[in-house]
Amino acid sequence: MKAEISTESLPRLDVAWACTKNPNHDGFVNFDDFNLSHLPDPLRNEDYLKYIQHLGNRVVRLTVKKQDGCCIYGSGVVFKLGQLYLIATNDHVIGSEEDVRNCTVDFFFNRPDSPNTDVSYGESHLGGSDMHDRSFLTFSPVPKRIEEMNIFDNSEISPYVSAHHDDLTVTHSRGYVCKTRGKWLVMVSRRDINVDRLVSFEVTFMKENGSQACPATYLGICRREAKLLWLEITDVPDFVPMVGSWTAPWPKGGEFVPMVIAHPHGGPKQVTIGKTIAVEMEGFVGKIYHTARTCPGSSGGLVITVGGDASSYVGYTAGLAIHCEGDQADSFRGVPTKTGNISASILVSS
Ligand SMILES: [Zn+2]
Repeated sequence: MKAEISTESLPRLDVAWACTKNPNHDGFVNFDDFNLSHLPDPLRNEDYLKYIQHLGNRVVRLTVKKQDGCCIYGSGVVFKLGQLYLIATNDHVIGSEEDVRNCTVDFFFNRPDSPNTDVSYGESHLGGSDMHDRSFLTFSPVPKRIEEMNIFDNSEISPYVSAHHDDLTVTHSRGYVCKTRGKWLVMVSRRDINVDRLVSFEVTFMKENGSQACPATYLGICRREAKLLWLEITDVPDFVPMVGSWTAPWPKGGEFVPMVIAHPHGGPKQVTIGKTIAVEMEGFVGKIYHTARTCPGSSGGLVITVGGDASSYVGYTAGLAIHCEGDQADSFRGVPTKTGNISASILVSS
């Protein structure tokens, strides 16, 4: 499958003449036009529509100016850690501090020449993983409309991590906790950590956004990657929710329908709907394979899984994923795709 960044920004999909993946762009619906009639029959419900619209408003277009002066276009999703707002995207969209510095963020870019777009700029690269193709950055300024959105605060699943080195220096960063195959793991950026001089880590969770510090017990590094470390911990405080303890606004059971909300061809935000083909673990990462249509520029976009009960899928219940790669395919693992598209997306928490 291929990374899906765009080297052009088109005002409308009907002028994407060079697109060979989805030449007619059938099945792409402008985000502002998305309504109940676009939802599959069992999901045709005002509550689901509001849920999709609310989450979709967190999808942004990312424009990254490269050294040669050319720009690449991708998508990203806004998350919240206490008072900190950040964007999750792919490592192949934002792979370095330099990419962050050269990044423009467009919020609410739903129409060509949209007068309602808020513009912001990349501020700091919080880290990422080229192996899992994910990346996190902060941005400034934070648009008022984003602050007013009541985005779920993930701070209780993001412990403070202090790395102690043998020269007595200590570096501090934020990690991200997940429970995989019965083990509690913390993902932390290697950016400020000197692994060769490392003595130990302290991992501390904060209750209710800083009111009480609760340490966990650090057991060791269980995996090293080029850009991050995975730490194993135990004695995790009770208030730390298992990633995905969040409850979806639909009854359990039924079909698990994936939708991609992204900026294909660097243009206005679009929604596509597909079918789930597989949800599985690869290493420490939950991946969903589905058939929702995507094009260059969709990388880093939001995948929402509506309906069904995600809790039975590899421990992730949140039903959110970041779109990562896509390709043309009439079938995948023997299952007809019907849309001619196969996509891979990485599951994340709410
Ligand atoms: Zn296309």
